[in-house]
Amino acid sequence: MDRLLPGLLAVARRAARAAASVCLGVLEEAPAAPAAMAKLGKEPVTVADYGSQAVILAAIADAFPQHGVVAEEGAAHFREHAGEEGAEQIVRLVGRALGRPVGLDEVLGWIDHRGGEAPFTWVIDPIDGTKGFLRRDQFAVAVGLLHEGRPVAGVLACPHLPVDPADPAGPPGLLFWGGIGLGAFAERLDDGGAVRPVSVSATADPREARVLGSVETAHGDPALVQAVIESAGLGGGWVRLDSQVKYGAVASGRAEVYLRPRSRPEYRDCIWDHAAGTALVEAAGGRVSDLDGRPLDFSRGARLQANRGVLASNGRLHGVILEALAAVAGRPGPTAI
Ligand code: AMP
Ligand code: MG
Repeated sequence: MDRLLPGLLAVARRAARAAASVCLGVLEEAPAAPAAMAKLGKEPVTVADYGSQAVILAAIADAFPQHGVVAEEGAAHFREHAGEEGAEQIVRLVGRALGRPVGLDEVLGWIDHRGGEAPFTWVIDPIDGTKGFLRRDQFAVAVGLLHEGRPVAGVLACPHLPVDPADPAGPPGLLFWGGIGLGAFAERLDDGGAVRPVSVSATADPREARVLGSVETAHGDPALVQAVIESAGLGGGWVRLDSQVKYGAVASGRAEVYLRPRSRPEYRDCIWDHAAGTALVEAAGGRVSDLDGRPLDFSRGARLQANRGVLASNGRLHGVILEALAAVAGRPGPTAI
C-alpha cells in the first residue's frame, strides 16, 4: 500500500488544484455582495460545490475506476435547482478546469460516480465550509483516501489561507497533502513549484497552545471550548476558522489544537468533514481522536457513528486536552462529552 500512495496522491493533488480553480471561478463571477451568490435550494450549496466534485471525480473515475467513492453531493439536487444559468456555468468552469470541452451529462455523470468495492475509498467534500465560502472566507476542497476503512492519505486545497501566517494580508492559497509513512507537505496553489515538508508544532506547553474551532456556533459548543481552554490553561489564543483548513493549520504547526465538541448529543460528524484532515494531521506527526480519546472510525458509513466530537492536535498536547474535557464534564476519566 505504501508504495502506491505517491501515485494516488499525485492524482488527488492535481484534482484538488483543478477543483479549487472552479471554486475561485464561481467567486469571481458572483455578484460583489457574497450573500447575493446563488444558493441552490435551501441548503448552502452552490454551483461551485458541484463543479468541484465533478472535477475531482472525473480524475478519480479516469485513474482509479474501481476505487470506492463517498462524496457529499449528488446530481439530482443540482438538476432540480441549478436552472439553465447554473448548467451553463458548471459546463463552462469544469471544461476550463479540465482543459477540454465537456457536456452537461458528462459533468452530472462525474458528480454521481461512486466507483466499486476496491479496498481504497475516496472520501470527498468538494467544498468544506460552504458557509465560509459564501462569506468569501475560509473553505477547503477536501480529498481523503481510506484503505480498508482507515485514513491513509489526504489533500486539502485552502484557496483563501494566507501562505505566510506572519502576513495575514499577504497572498493566499495553499495545498496541503500527506500520506501515512510519507509525511506531510505544502505547496502554493498559485505556482505548484516548490513543495515543502510541514509538521505539527513541537510544543508541549499548554500556555503556548493555540486553539482552533468552528466559526459557526451551531456546528459546535463554544462554551465547552472556552471551559477546556480555562481548565487546561491553554494560553496561545482561540481562533475560529471555517472548514478543514483547521486540520491544515494543525498539520503545519500554525496551531496546536482543533477542538470540535458536538452541537447536540445526537450529532455524528460526516466522514467527509474529517477523512482528509485526519490523514493529513497524522502524516504530519499529530493525533486525531474523538473527545473520549478513541480513534475516529471511518468504517461505519457516511457518519462517524462510533465517535463523539473530534480532537486534532500536535500529539504532545492531546492528553492534556482529554484530561481537561473529562474535568469540565465533572467525571474522573475521559468521558462522553
Ligand atoms: P466547520 O466549518 O468546521 O464548522 O465545518 C463545516 C461542516 O460542519 C460542514 O461541512 C457540515 O457538514 C458540518 N455541520 C453541519 N451542521 C453541523 C452541526 N450541527 N454540528 C457539527 N457539524 C455540522
Ligand atoms: Mg463539509
